[in-house]
Amino acid sequence: MPRESFLQPVRLKLAQRAAYRCAFPGCDRLTIGPGEKADEVENTGKAAHIYAASEYGPRGQGTLTPDQLKAITNGIWMCGHHADLIDKNTGRRYPVAVLKSWKALHEYRTAYEHSGRATAFGFVRSMTLNATPLFAPTTIAFGKTTFLIGMNESGKTALLDWLSVLDSPRRLGRWMTPHRLHYTLLFDAPGEHKLEVETDNNVVQCDLDDRRVAFNHHRIAITVLAKRRDHQAKDDLANLMSLLHLDEISVRSLAAMIDSDTMYLRAARFEREADDDGEVREVLRCTLQSGAEMPFGILSGGEQGRVIMEFAIAHMASVASVAPALLIVERPNLGIDDAGFAVYLDYFSRGECRFQTIVTQFKITDDIKGLGWQVYQLTARTNTTSGIIEAVLPI
Ligand SMILES: [Zn+2]
Repeated sequence: MPRESFLQPVRLKLAQRAAYRCAFPGCDRLTIGPGEKADEVENTGKAAHIYAASEYGPRGQGTLTPDQLKAITNGIWMCGHHADLIDKNTGRRYPVAVLKSWKALHEYRTAYEHSGRATAFGFVRSMTLNATPLFAPTTIAFGKTTFLIGMNESGKTALLDWLSVLDSPRRLGRWMTPHRLHYTLLFDAPGEHKLEVETDNNVVQCDLDDRRVAFNHHRIAITVLAKRRDHQAKDDLANLMSLLHLDEISVRSLAAMIDSDTMYLRAARFEREADDDGEVREVLRCTLQSGAEMPFGILSGGEQGRVIMEFAIAHMASVASVAPALLIVERPNLGIDDAGFAVYLDYFSRGECRFQTIVTQFKITDDIKGLGWQVYQLTARTNTTSGIIEAVLPI
């Protein structure tokens, strides 16, 4: 079988997207400079393959077609030393999911630097599960957007609870005794940090960069979007406050910031309305792209899901302009149809989107069957076996 090498235009674009710097974490070596003669350039970088270029090469070829093997999505830019290192011993130490996560981190950081906003940089690199009541020990390497695929009870919510300790430990409450929980998070905020979490006798022990702390002081702001309606909320304002875990003033400010010509909402505002009993309620009036103005309450479930999603995106975008941010979307609970959701997937993949995203869903859908996304499949534990988390290629 032939070697599926990258063509020159692919190599060039890969190098440029990496700003000609090695994507191996901590290396960042510049791979281009002046050559020997006045009109020469010396390039010491390599377009390394994530899946192998040849049939029995490092990490194998998965189920990729020849075209996919030589596509830019299957490449990562590295200095000569690291390009060789990742291929040693059939690439066992550097699996596909890890390399994809490194590539995402490097491109994300490069986009940040390029925009001149380097200080707000944040990126959750990985979560290593050492001991949990649900899963066999494993590591999840996060991309800029990561999909967690699994049915109900497969442990998705547990992973999100554990991850959210980066923002606040409040979701760890239900993971105290008798469960033993021990896991490690690696993240940038903007420096590199390690947070080791262990529960012991009703106490959460956190070690941040090997020092005991009460909670994570290099906070990553996390919003978990788990539903589109809180049925206890008395009006639209209270509903958004509950879903986004924000106070009234912040939700009002957020509504004033909604301004898009590509998403579902063009603008939004709250209006006080008295009902027949004289009860005053804050109604969210949504201006759609058509110019029509609709109260939130009469929108369909899926449309309401889109409104909530766009508030969450506006929130994360504003946080990410000054601090690290991560948006977690429990997709099935929002009721947004695939065509509607495509707008968000497109936004998450663009450089202008400054925050990381995790999307949970039941199955691998057509819209994530592309290369470049980070996708993990969860299999629930049974009475006799631990749950399994494995990186999958959605083709
Ligand atoms: Zn390197």
